[in-house]
Amino acid sequence: MKYKHCAKCGQIKPATEFNKRYSGLQPYCRECNRKYPRERQEQADSHFNLVVLPNGVRAFILKKEYKNA
Ligand SMILES: [Zn+2]
Repeated sequence: MKYKHCAKCGQIKPATEFNKRYSGLQPYCRECNRKYPRERQEQADSHFNLVVLPNGVRAFILKKEYKNA
């Protein structure tokens, strides 16, 4: 089983505790996603998801691509 470091709470958790994203897994575990809802996504165009890359760059990802990932 794969493990991943959560960028929010700092814990090492199984990959199953992370939601999938366009290119792998979200940087935050599911627990943190519940605690800290995505702040700006609601403002994004309805066809896009706003994501923040690990290097801090914000990017808009087509939801279609997001789902296929
Ligand atoms: Zn976490």
